[in-house]
Amino acid sequence: MENSLKILVVDDDEVDRMAVRRALKTAGVLVDCAETCDATATLATLKTKSFDCIFLDYRLPDQDGLSLVQAIRELGIQTPLIVLTGQGDEQIAVNLMKAGASDYLAKSKISPGRLAQMLRNAIRVYQAEQQTALATQRLQESHDLLLRKNQELEQQRQQIHAQNLQLIEAAQIKSRFLATLSHELKTPLNAILGFSQMLLRPSKGTLSVKQTEMVQRILNNGKHLLEMLTEILDFSRIEAGRLDLNPEWFNLAELIAATLEELRSLADQKQLTLSMHFSLGNPTVFNDPGRVRQILTNLLSNAIKFTEAGQIWVKVKENSPEQLVISIDDTGIGIPPAELTSIFEAFCQVDQTNTRKHPGTGLGLAITRTLVEMMSGQITVTSQVGEGSTFRIEIPRQVS
Ligand code: ADP
Repeated sequence: MENSLKILVVDDDEVDRMAVRRALKTAGVLVDCAETCDATATLATLKTKSFDCIFLDYRLPDQDGLSLVQAIRELGIQTPLIVLTGQGDEQIAVNLMKAGASDYLAKSKISPGRLAQMLRNAIRVYQAEQQTALATQRLQESHDLLLRKNQELEQQRQQIHAQNLQLIEAAQIKSRFLATLSHELKTPLNAILGFSQMLLRPSKGTLSVKQTEMVQRILNNGKHLLEMLTEILDFSRIEAGRLDLNPEWFNLAELIAATLEELRSLADQKQLTLSMHFSLGNPTVFNDPGRVRQILTNLLSNAIKFTEAGQIWVKVKENSPEQLVISIDDTGIGIPPAELTSIFEAFCQVDQTNTRKHPGTGLGLAITRTLVEMMSGQITVTSQVGEGSTFRIEIPRQVS
């Protein structure tokens, strides 16, 4: 205790007050002493000044020590309070401590060492209590803050939940709109395709060469439109969870050969070689032939679309009798490494500009991946820009 302590000595007896001062001085405690003689003056002093410790005589002219201790504590003053009693009555001591006294000492036992020790103890306890109170207050504040944060988080969670519901509803409306739109567009488009095909039949031979060419273009463009509408319709079915597989036993080699033949004219137009390496002992598989054909068509038409010269292979082999691997290699423009994952996202195209060379909805690979996953398989891609790409599908021979 190097700084001097501010002490209030309350006693109506000048000699007793001096005894306290002297004892503290003798004990080497640096004190700055104030003194009062009765309860009224003490309360008045405490309302305006603060002290490190109060020494209080139990017997005062206007009030006893017990009620003064109570009055001081009721004012909210927590200063350490040592009561000096005339005699060592245990019951008085217990009552004093209950009322809020820090300690008590019979005046007959006052000695410099004892008084200094009591002073130090009382101040130490007081400081510890203050620190505990401060820590408790901080804890309470953090607790309140956490509660508030929790409430805010809960509100945010509810907002996000509400927004999610709105988003789900918006997505459902969009899917329904896409489904209705593509369905409605398909009906007139099928009529256009049907009538163009009729006009092109040799038996109708009334068209000039120029007209035949124009009808052929109507037919080709109509087919392309139909493919895109089918993709949009499939995508909306996937989003609505309404795309199912209808598996049956069929010959995979025959299905791949037929798909290649269907696309051969497209490859021929670009002078691309289209070939198949089929190395399955048993070509029979249990799957949805329409969906397997759709996967192959998507990957092969992409390979043709994004290859300017060279060749395209379809290779089929087995990892095990139950696990098949179909890969489609091309010598096309390739895919930058950064795009290798995103191309499987719906509407994602490496070239997003309006002037892009290759038409498409950007849905083909998203649909393909969903179909492969529905077949409990997986699709991966490796590619070198300027050299070509390989799409690899692993599927079970028999889907469940
Ligand atoms: P779309 O072909 O209608 O654009 P896809 O989902 O089928 O949509 O393909 C997404 C994108 O992936 C394509 O736009 C293209 O950028 C890239 N891609 C797909 N296949 C190939 C390929 N064989 N070679 C190069 N790029 C490809």
